[in-house]
Amino acid sequence: MEHPENDELYKGLKVNKGVAGVPVINPYLKKRPQRKEYTPSEFVEGILQGNITILSQAVTLVESARPEHQQLAQEIIEKCLPHAGNSVRIGITGVPGAGKSTSIDTFGMYLIGEGRKLAVLAIDPSSERSKGSILGDKTRMEELAREKNAFIRPSPAAGSLGGVARKTRETIVLCEAAGFDTVFVETVGVGQSETAVHSMVDFFLLIQLAGTGDELQGIKRGIMEMADGIIINKADGDNLEKARLAASQFRSALHLFPLADSGWVPQVLTYSGYYKSGIREIWKMIDEYTAFTRQNGYFDHRRNEQSKYWMYESINETLRNTFYNNPAVAAMLKTTEQQVLNNEISSFVAAKRMMELFLENIH
Ligand code: GDP
Repeated sequence: MEHPENDELYKGLKVNKGVAGVPVINPYLKKRPQRKEYTPSEFVEGILQGNITILSQAVTLVESARPEHQQLAQEIIEKCLPHAGNSVRIGITGVPGAGKSTSIDTFGMYLIGEGRKLAVLAIDPSSERSKGSILGDKTRMEELAREKNAFIRPSPAAGSLGGVARKTRETIVLCEAAGFDTVFVETVGVGQSETAVHSMVDFFLLIQLAGTGDELQGIKRGIMEMADGIIINKADGDNLEKARLAASQFRSALHLFPLADSGWVPQVLTYSGYYKSGIREIWKMIDEYTAFTRQNGYFDHRRNEQSKYWMYESINETLRNTFYNNPAVAAMLKTTEQQVLNNEISSFVAAKRMMELFLENIH
């Protein structure tokens, strides 16, 4: 049928005949290979061969909330455990803007140049709200993202900090089984997440900046106490002297802390992640630390303590979830809370009643 718009009346307008309708179903679609469903043994075999696609899929299972995925993930982890543990795990923290991604890119390229294989993981407490983490994001580590010997994985997004941390810890196992000999766990230096990272790494690196004038005040004492090494970034250009000054201030501040259980005195170094200077010294420090703690037995001791910690964390997490997801508890929780707020019952009586209700309703 002729289109009325083609009438003389509508100047400058021409409507062509339509093309034949596009089929809804793409005829080529069925030719695409289906995503293979691997058995646990196939997963493990692939991981042990260092197959990155299979490793990524296994990590996705670890991160999944679906029970059938979790069960499969646990089977894979269990089979990978005997092949895990052979890496140096390094926690990296620093406030936003401290230069974590720039530094990780530089450190990573340095390590790959040394023939090492690097996995970069992350724990981001804010990812729960934003439903997606920017930490460990490949776009922030441009050079490293192109390297076949680097595996970069952003923070698992959903769940409590404990849940997110557990997933990252399990991902470490898979990465180690896949032959990664160095693991970075990145986190933002602003809250609870450092404790979680500290409890899964061998060496905890704190990235600091100079030049704010009140360096030492701005740092949470707890984070400094956890650090095995403090590195002052952006020691370049006009900032070089300030960085050196900050380093000496940190050194004096560290003297006030008691000696760590490891017997290791944390070192303070300056470097530039952007201009790639001072990088070898940082790795020399970490190698020295591992040699020192392996020799005095602390390296294995720390890992054992961490395994114990995660066992109890896991029990606590499961208990908490079982309690709050229990239908009888969920049905009564708000009412009981209101009774407490109305001063009808005390907090302790309320808690006791809720616990009793829970215990009566578990099967
Ligand atoms: P993150 O938020 O901790 O990951 O920090 P980024 O790596 O994104 O760095 C924040 C800003 O600092 C960016 O604009 C970087 O270019 C800059 N930056 C990072 N490292 C250095 C450095 O060594 N020297 C200088 N001058 N700037 C740097």
